Amino acid sequence: MTITGCCECSAVTYSITDSPVYVYACHCLNCQTRSGSAFAEHAMVPVSAFACDGRIMGYKRLAHGVEFEEVFCAVCHTRVFNKNSLLADMIFLRAGTLAGSQTLNPIAHIWISRKQDWITLPEGIPAFAESPTPEEFGAAIQTAERRGHV
Ligand SMILES: [Zn+2]
Ligand SMILES: [Zn+2]
Repeated sequence: MTITGCCECSAVTYSITDSPVYVYACHCLNCQTRSGSAFAEHAMVPVSAFACDGRIMGYKRLAHGVEFEEVFCAVCHTRVFNKNSLLADMIFLRAGTLAGSQTLNPIAHIWISRKQDWITLPEGIPAFAESPTPEEFGAAIQTAERRGHV
């Protein structure tokens, strides 16, 4: 199965082939600032399943010894994904760029210690005060799969 997405102007398109896409919402302050919004929706996708087409641009930054590369559409500057040196074989997709993003339903909410007060989280969806451990995130994926969520 192939899932597609694109930037706001459609100059950059991408596809994800034969990989589940687990979307989670991050309520941290960095995500609020970078998105200019209340939270960000991300999805981790293996580099091997991801193909991107079109003119991209990006920049690199260091945080806590980890190098992050932020990737944008070179035309409309929509942030499409990032990568980091810690998990170099993963793409961190900006999930709002997925086709049909209005049907997204995050499998977890993270950094809810920074969540804006007006947001009420849905019942039964795993939520974490800060970043979950890989084991905790894995358990959230299993919970979502049990619900037939993805
Ligand atoms: Zn664009
Ligand atoms: Zn965040």
